[in-house]
Amino acid sequence: MPTSTAFVRRAEPSEYDGVAELTARVYVSEGYASSGYEDALRQVASRDRSAQVLVALVDGAVAGAVTVATRGGEWAEQAVPGEAVIRMLVVDPAVRGSGTGAALVRACIERAREDGCGVVRLSTDPSMTTAHRLYERIGFARTPSYDWEPLPGLRLLGYALALLPWCDQCGEALSPEGHDRCRRMAELDPPRWCAQCRRRMVVQVTPTGWTAKCVEHGVRSSS
Ligand SMILES: [Zn+2]
Ligand SMILES: [Zn+2]
Repeated sequence: MPTSTAFVRRAEPSEYDGVAELTARVYVSEGYASSGYEDALRQVASRDRSAQVLVALVDGAVAGAVTVATRGGEWAEQAVPGEAVIRMLVVDPAVRGSGTGAALVRACIERAREDGCGVVRLSTDPSMTTAHRLYERIGFARTPSYDWEPLPGLRLLGYALALLPWCDQCGEALSPEGHDRCRRMAELDPPRWCAQCRRRMVVQVTPTGWTAKCVEHGVRSSS
């Protein structure tokens, strides 16, 4: 068993190969990697460009890894602006039970908060029941309306966690499911309501997008 708890930080480029090996090894050994997906699992440098790859260090060695997309991009699956997605969570079997998986998920939530995301989503295989208990302990709820099949025959379950109290499009209470029209509007439109305090935002359209200001919580922008 490891002697220390996990320390989580952004992956360094020198660790990409190790993260690729660990991620592919865990997915393949548990039967979750089709040949095409194994290639995607190994694209750590690409994930760390358009998203963030975090590593968990236990006793100084990489013992787990995860990808969190907080600003859209190719790894963001079903997320719309203002939503984060957690992907490819792996923990070395040698340190399972040490809290490493939870430390990685909590670090992803922190990154999502820092980037102003209101919701964190993830998809998981129905058989990953240990991971499901971990997500539920942290506060994630099942979101059946986000269950999906990325490949024929590969059904994934949706989970999500709301980080902010209010929907910034409709001003009603934010929830992991529902708000379908708001999510479509978020692709194009600036927020109307502050997701932290439910004040009306002062919106300005700029040459590159928009800014939206809450007198209490400051300015958000599209870029
Ligand atoms: Zn809404
Ligand atoms: Zn506010």
